[in-house]
Amino acid sequence: MATVLDKISLSERKIQEIVKKTKEHVLLYGIIMRTAESPGNSDKVQHAPFTLFPCLVPRGALAKVKSIQVHFNRLMHMAAHDTEFLQECLSNVVKVDDFNKRLWDILLVVAEEGVAQPVSLGLFRNDYMMDVKQGTSVDQTTQASIPENIQMKQIEFNMIASSFGGLVSPLYNVHRYSLTIAGKKFDDSQVPENNPAKELAKGLVEGWKAYGNKRACVLFLVSDPERNTLDQRRIDAEIFSCDRTVSVKYATFRDMNDRGSKRISDKALVIDGCEVAVVYFRTGYSPEDYSSDKDWDTRLMIERSKAIKCPSIQYQLAGTKKVQQELCRPGAVERFIKDADIALAIRETFAYQYSLDMGEDGDRGIEKAFANPQNYVLKPNREGGGNNIYGEDIKPFLTKIMNSTERSGYILMEKIHPWPQTNYLLKVGLDISLQNVISEIGIYGVYLGSDDTEIYNSLAGHLVRSKTLGTDEGGLMVGLSCLDTPFLID
Ligand code: ADP
Ligand code: MG
Repeated sequence: MATVLDKISLSERKIQEIVKKTKEHVLLYGIIMRTAESPGNSDKVQHAPFTLFPCLVPRGALAKVKSIQVHFNRLMHMAAHDTEFLQECLSNVVKVDDFNKRLWDILLVVAEEGVAQPVSLGLFRNDYMMDVKQGTSVDQTTQASIPENIQMKQIEFNMIASSFGGLVSPLYNVHRYSLTIAGKKFDDSQVPENNPAKELAKGLVEGWKAYGNKRACVLFLVSDPERNTLDQRRIDAEIFSCDRTVSVKYATFRDMNDRGSKRISDKALVIDGCEVAVVYFRTGYSPEDYSSDKDWDTRLMIERSKAIKCPSIQYQLAGTKKVQQELCRPGAVERFIKDADIALAIRETFAYQYSLDMGEDGDRGIEKAFANPQNYVLKPNREGGGNNIYGEDIKPFLTKIMNSTERSGYILMEKIHPWPQTNYLLKVGLDISLQNVISEIGIYGVYLGSDDTEIYNSLAGHLVRSKTLGTDEGGLMVGLSCLDTPFLID
C-alpha cells in the first residue's frame, strides 16, 4: 500500500526513536489538548492524536480544491442569503426536525423585525476525500504510485465551529522533522507551510473592523466544559499578533444567560459591560449544546443584536446536509455562480446525493439505499460527528422510517472510497503500529459580507485528518482520527 516513506525501510528501534523525538516536537509546538477525564481545565494536557508522517496528496488535486475555495465561500454565502432557496431546501426538514425548526424560527423572527446586522462572517471548512473508484488498486511494486483517477470529492461544507485550524497549524513543521530523521529526502514545497490559525484570526479581525467600534470585543462562545480550548487559543493568540488592541472574551451559553444582554437603544450585544463586535460560535451546532430554553433565548438574543455573527443563523442553516444535497441538483449551483467553468469545477467535487422526501423523487433514493446499502451513507441534518448511518445499518433503519415523513430529515449520499495508505497513528495510551489509513482533507475559507456586498473572501489553509481504514466516522476528539498534513506528489 502507498506510503510517503516509499522505499525506505526502518528498523523497529529506529521507529521507536522517531516516535519519541517527534512526540516531543508535537509537545514543543503545542499540538495539545485537555484530557477526556479533565475536560474543563488545562492543568492536565496531552498531545492531540497525530500521524507520524504526512500522507500523500497529488499536488494538482490539492491545488484544484484550494483554487475553488473562494468561489465555494461565495456560493455558500449566496445560498444562505437566498431565503427562498433555503426555504425550498428545508421546508420538509423543519416539519420533522425540532432542532432545525428552532433555528429556522429564529431566522423568521429576525427577518420579520428587520435584520440588525446585515454582515455575516464565516470561518468555513470544506472537507474532501481523495476518491479512487472501486476496483482500482495501487501499484504494489512502486508503492507510491498514484492511482490514475484520484478525485477530490466533497464530504461536507462546515459553516459553524470548524475546528482544528489552531492545532494543525504547526504540524507541517513536525512532519518535516519526522521525515528528515527517517532519512526521507524532500523539497520544502512538498510539505507546504500552512497556518489556518492566522488566516482564521485575520477573518475575525476583519469582522471586528467591519463592526466599527474599537472598544468592542470578539466573543468566543464555547462549550461547558470546553475540551478543545487550546485549538481556540491559538486563533486567539494569532488575533493578538495581528492586532493587540482587539480584546477577546470567552463565554458559555450559561455565562451569556447570566451576564449578557442586548441594549435596547441600539441593539448592541453586551457582556460584562463590554460591547461585542463579533460572536464566534464554537458551540451551538448540536441540540445538546442548548441545555434549556434559556440557551435558546440567548441564541435568539444574539441573532437579534447588531453583533456580527460567525456564523449567522442563515449560514448555519445553509451548512445543513439537506442544503448540500439540494445543491447537487442540476441548476442549483448555477443559480448562484454564473461563470460556467467555476460552477463546473465546484460541481465536479460533488458525490451523488439523494433526497429522501415523501414522493417519487425520494422513493428513488430509498430504492437505491435498499439495493446497495454498502454504497451509501445516510445522514441526518446534524453536525459534530457520530450521527450518520453506514452500510448494512441503513436497511433496518430505513425500514422503520420509510413510511413516515421522518425520512425527510435525512439525505442519502454515495459512499466515497478514499485512497488507502499506510502510516503510524499516535494516540495517547495506545501502542503504535503500522496501519492502513484513509485521509480527509479540509480546506479552510473565510467570508465576510452582506447580501450584496463582499467585504473579505479568502482561502485560509488546510487540515488533514487520517483514520484507520474501515472506520466510518472520523471524530478527532473521540480518538478516531489523527491530525495529519499533506505530502505533495506530482
Ligand atoms: P459531521 O457533520 O457529523 O462531521 P460528516 O458528513 O462530515 O458529518 O460525516 C462524518 C464522517 O463520516 C466524515 O468525517 C467521514 O469520515 C465520514 N463520511 C461522511 N460522508 C461520507 C461519504 N460520503 N463517504 C465516506 N465517508 C463519509
Ligand atoms: Mg464532518
